[in-house]
Amino acid sequence: MLWAGKLFSAPAKPKFKPASQRLAILGAGPIGLQAALQAVREGYQVTVYDKGELADHIRQWGHVKLFSPFGLNTTEMGIEAILRDHKDHTLPQPNEFVTGTQFRDSYLIPLSMTSSLDPILKMKTEVLAIARTGLFHSTAAEDPRRANAPFRLHIRDDKKTESFVEFDLVFDCTGTYSQHRWAGHGGISALNERSSENQIAYGLEDILGTRRAYYAGKSIIVIGGGYSAATTVCNLATLAEEHSATWVFWLSQAAKGSPIPRIANDTFRERDRLAAKANSLAARGEGNLEYHPQTWIEEITCHGPDKGFRVVGKCAGQEQVWEVDRVIANVGYRPNTSLFSELHVQIPSSDFRQPEPNFFVLGCKSASSDRTFLLQQGYEQLEEVFAFLSGRSSSPMAA
Ligand SMILES: Cc1cc2nc3c(=O)[nH]c(=O)nc-3n(C[C@H](O)[C@H](O)[C@H](O)COP(=O)(O)OP(=O)(O)OC[C@H]3O[C@@H](n4cnc5c(N)ncnc54)[C@H](O)[C@@H]3O)c2cc1C
Repeated sequence: MLWAGKLFSAPAKPKFKPASQRLAILGAGPIGLQAALQAVREGYQVTVYDKGELADHIRQWGHVKLFSPFGLNTTEMGIEAILRDHKDHTLPQPNEFVTGTQFRDSYLIPLSMTSSLDPILKMKTEVLAIARTGLFHSTAAEDPRRANAPFRLHIRDDKKTESFVEFDLVFDCTGTYSQHRWAGHGGISALNERSSENQIAYGLEDILGTRRAYYAGKSIIVIGGGYSAATTVCNLATLAEEHSATWVFWLSQAAKGSPIPRIANDTFRERDRLAAKANSLAARGEGNLEYHPQTWIEEITCHGPDKGFRVVGKCAGQEQVWEVDRVIANVGYRPNTSLFSELHVQIPSSDFRQPEPNFFVLGCKSASSDRTFLLQQGYEQLEEVFAFLSGRSSSPMAA
């Protein structure tokens, strides 16, 4: 079982009937949508909030190809719901590898337009904070008043109108992509990184598409040692084949050799191919690329919009300074925990059960590492949560 193991002071087994329960789902990404579909079937009164458009994070990295095949990114229940309401809809083959945009267009958007989900989705409505009505954080998690007090959500819609709404259960499926990590030594911000933040690209840039002109022929620093950095570096190397003035400095804390750790016998060949290609570029210094291992970032100073950057790093203890046109910091993302700072919630957690009764952090936000989180894991996690809530779970904690 993926999520078993961690012992909290056990929340009591839910003793309510779904029909009388108001469930707020935060985030209309793939996990939030699947949660909503299952919850509607179980009879909950569901409302889904998303601060952006549907599956907004995936929309933002839509040009990237998923490394898991379509069949593993979807559920039987989701496919059935789509085909029931949109009989002529054509889905990709289960073994097809689609981009984020194709996944959104062919599965997530049609799913959101089914009769089960369409009426309960509130798009462009951000959840700002969550509390328990009438209680502060200082009331202990085990205090029975917590389980009995409804959640109070502070929300803001696209007209900037703010309001409070009450719910009995909350699923936080807000992902991590909205909030980047910092690029500096030890995970804190580098000198001047905060004032340069708006000029640094932290997401997955569409280098071979909409952002081609912005990067072609430029000197670019890429910071990071994960699959996002690997994707960026491989795309920049392709760009450099067409625009030979493009020059890439890849800075990573990884040791000499291969910057991207490869998973032994990786079942996802596309992911392994990406790691292998990026490692080979780093090793051979091809594609107008210099790889600088063991490099911690000390400073990122932007000289003004489109005026370039000064980047200072310590490479194996030696200071090195670069003056470049662009900086891409693919240093990962972190969950927004301020949403539930008035509740008793711990993430990452190996268990979906939280000390806070009836509050669940699900999807990639619950994972200790976004880079290895899989949609399949999120869907399995939902099965376990609904089994727990309905009392079907055989888990000793739910008994
Ligand atoms: C580039 C990339 C490629 C990936 N490729 C794969 C792959 O091939 N296979 C795989 O299994 N996994 C992959 N993943 C990992 C993971 O499956 C995805 O990140 C997936 O999108 C996670 O789904 P989610 O529903 O948990 O969160 P998200 O898709 O991140 O959705 C969160 C939603 O919450 C909304 N939101 C955020 N804050 C608020 C708020 N305060 N109020 C209201 N709404 C809010 C956002 O707008 C967003 O729509 C990849 C991840 C990335 C970044």
